[in-house]
Amino acid sequence: MSDMKTAQQYAQGLLDYVWAGPSPFHVVEETARRLTAAGFEQVFEKEEPQAIASGAGQFIIRGGSLVAWRAGEASPVVAGFRVAAAHTDSPNLRVKPNPDVKKEGYYQLGVEVYGGVLLHTWTDRDLGLSGRVMVEGPDGAEPRLFRTDKPMARIANLAIHLNRGVNKDGAKYNKQKQLKPVLGLGEWDGFESWLSAQLDGEKVLSWEIGFHDTQQPSLGGIDDAFIFAPRLDNLGSCYTILEAFLLSKPAAHTQVMALFDHEEIGSQTYRGARGPLLGDVMDRLIANHAQQAIGGRVRAGANSWMISADMAHGVHPNYAEMHEPNHKPMLGGGPVLKSHVEHRYASEAETMARMRGACAAVGVPCQEFVNRTDLACGSTVGPMIAADLGIPTVDIGMAMLSMHSVREQAATADPVQMIAVLAHVFEEG
Ligand SMILES: [Zn+2]
Repeated sequence: MSDMKTAQQYAQGLLDYVWAGPSPFHVVEETARRLTAAGFEQVFEKEEPQAIASGAGQFIIRGGSLVAWRAGEASPVVAGFRVAAAHTDSPNLRVKPNPDVKKEGYYQLGVEVYGGVLLHTWTDRDLGLSGRVMVEGPDGAEPRLFRTDKPMARIANLAIHLNRGVNKDGAKYNKQKQLKPVLGLGEWDGFESWLSAQLDGEKVLSWEIGFHDTQQPSLGGIDDAFIFAPRLDNLGSCYTILEAFLLSKPAAHTQVMALFDHEEIGSQTYRGARGPLLGDVMDRLIANHAQQAIGGRVRAGANSWMISADMAHGVHPNYAEMHEPNHKPMLGGGPVLKSHVEHRYASEAETMARMRGACAAVGVPCQEFVNRTDLACGSTVGPMIAADLGIPTVDIGMAMLSMHSVREQAATADPVQMIAVLAHVFEEG
């Protein structure tokens, strides 16, 4: 991996990627742009798959999800897949279908809470809007990416003088009543016609639009030790997978990068990790080698392994007791291997050993995480893909703070370490 960049360059690259992706649709668009620039070809699920040469790369988009692959020299039935998977979505506030609210002279928008939002962090922030809009085209509905970074709205906190107990009792919000962002005063024609005007007057049919923080991501802290940015969970993983994927040389096995929308709401959707997208890609690549042996998918799965990359809980100096005392991952300390006895993480002894080997091979330290035994554990796309497709899987991630906050924190030292390990797995298996 002689063509690797410095830690600082990759951290800066992550900031650029995060800024390019305020919504899953923008993340996929940016990822597709970079893949296309690297010679990958977009193909479509509606069309008959054509044979591709070994070493050639393609990708499929399904809404906010994208799966890319580089065909191996050998059949995946024999040489397997090396898969790295992550999610493109992040918790935020989404605009309702009939969002317009006028109250006490203010214009507000009704919002739904998407995923496990750390609600109080969204207050008193300058919020923009981004996502996907369906508009009326000559042959039916057409998608449009939409984004404005103009601060359009705020969810204003109640003044402390009217909420004296807040610092003792905590900031609590009723999701229906107290999260509606305020957009304006006076007269307004409503969200739909505003949106239409933003899209040069196109007729708006429907949307998936959310709010995002308009503050730019940045490096910060002493010697720029930290990355301060929104959506590090899980664009930190999408970015490092993409960089590693593009760095990798073709191999006997087939390399696959799978970025899924809807992880934060359970993945059981048309474009989520529980949908058929990745399994269909496996079938397509098995068929590419004309080796249609009975049980081909099972053999391919058994010859494969997958890295499920999602951000990990770094130990917090002010809340260190919330971590298991022997498992306190540090920001900057290298990839975190996550395991859980009830397999909320997919890691098994076999895949953890394999991951340790990969880290050792590229001289990157690794750390372990298990939840405190008396706390419920989070999860990732790892266990569901492992179960559905029969691929041995390990769950790893970069350590971070403020997970699911509107603005999160990770370490500048980590992306380069993650990219080195992922590229090693893509190439060497
Ligand atoms: Zn995540």
